[in-house]
Amino acid sequence: MNRVNNLNLCSFDAVIAGAGLSGITAARVLAEAGHKVVVVEKREEVGGNTYDYVDGNGITVQKYGPHIFHTSDKEVFDFLSRFTEWTAYEHRVLGNINGKLVPVPFNLTSLFELYGKEEGGKIKDILIEEIGLGKKVPILTLKGHADKAVRDFADFVYRNVFYIYTMKQWGFKPEELGEAVMNRVPVYISYEDRYFTDTYQYMPADGFTEMSKNILDHENITLITGVDILEHIEIAGGKIFADGKEFCGKLIYTGRTEQLFGYKFGKLSYRSLDFVFETLDTPSYQPAAVVNYNTSEKFTRISEFTKFACGKKDKTVIVKEYSKDFKEGDIPYYPIPKRENYEEYLKYAEEAAKVPNLILLGRLAAYKYINMDVAVKNAICAANNIK
Ligand code: UDP
Repeated sequence: MNRVNNLNLCSFDAVIAGAGLSGITAARVLAEAGHKVVVVEKREEVGGNTYDYVDGNGITVQKYGPHIFHTSDKEVFDFLSRFTEWTAYEHRVLGNINGKLVPVPFNLTSLFELYGKEEGGKIKDILIEEIGLGKKVPILTLKGHADKAVRDFADFVYRNVFYIYTMKQWGFKPEELGEAVMNRVPVYISYEDRYFTDTYQYMPADGFTEMSKNILDHENITLITGVDILEHIEIAGGKIFADGKEFCGKLIYTGRTEQLFGYKFGKLSYRSLDFVFETLDTPSYQPAAVVNYNTSEKFTRISEFTKFACGKKDKTVIVKEYSKDFKEGDIPYYPIPKRENYEEYLKYAEEAAKVPNLILLGRLAAYKYINMDVAVKNAICAANNIK
């Protein structure tokens, strides 16, 4: 990997805007195919919002909030495995529901904890009869079930697990968001207590930042940090201009598309977060790596970083997440997954489609609430299409 101070973007086959997982994956695939690529990143760090660092107590802290890797996609897993060793890690979350800690996704254990043995047993039998043991059901599907007892149970789960948390996280009710959001955390008609049921569940042994640096470590990749690509790139008449000269290579852009097009169709909506970190003088703060606050508090969840890794420490680090409306200058962590927002985005996507050498990639540029593995997959596919 080379580092340069002055840009000469036209000397590269591809310019990649953004060193998040999408950008660096595309860079690596192109570099291995023989393309000379430059990755231009606004921050001084790589890895995008997966960026992590080891603090003074030897604890790996994720600066932009908890990122837990999981995938069922072998191609993605094999690709990343070339750049990191893994630590096996199965994510389990507890929800604080009216002061009781129960598994989330809501499962049969949660049911018994909150309803008691007798009532819980009756509901369990109905759920197994009506839905089937081992099934995973989105809450909104459960709410519309034909059987009244199932619907009553669904209303309880909706109010106590989803409604308040979702209002805190998005400022919208669950049914106002795209279905896919609630489908991420279905109700489990089983005792499964893992947050994810993917085939591969691991954390990079030396952290995401080390993995990202390894991905970038290729002779055909030049990395420029601390530079905002938008100060160098312009789109006009279906063409890309880099520092005033027409750029005929590929531009893989992973930032906010509306910025690339000078907000010509207006701003898009995002949700941002405030993180409050605390280092505590105790080896363990809470009984799970993540505790969701489903019925109380202003923050949505507390993550405890020492629980993502093996090995005991004397101290621990926790982070509370406060979700907020995005304003210019904030970090746009989440596109807001509502149909009307995506329709606004499509105006930009149509504009982008008129630029033959422009590719939009990643959570921001594609305006999609995707996980890390999907970001990597999409980047591999996009780069392969260029070859
Ligand atoms: N959700 C909820 N209660 C929970 C967990 C999740 O209402 O205890 C909803 C909430 O709307 C959240 C969405 O499900 O934004 C997706 O949750 P996930 O944990 O996947 O969110 P992420 O980790 O991506 O922020």
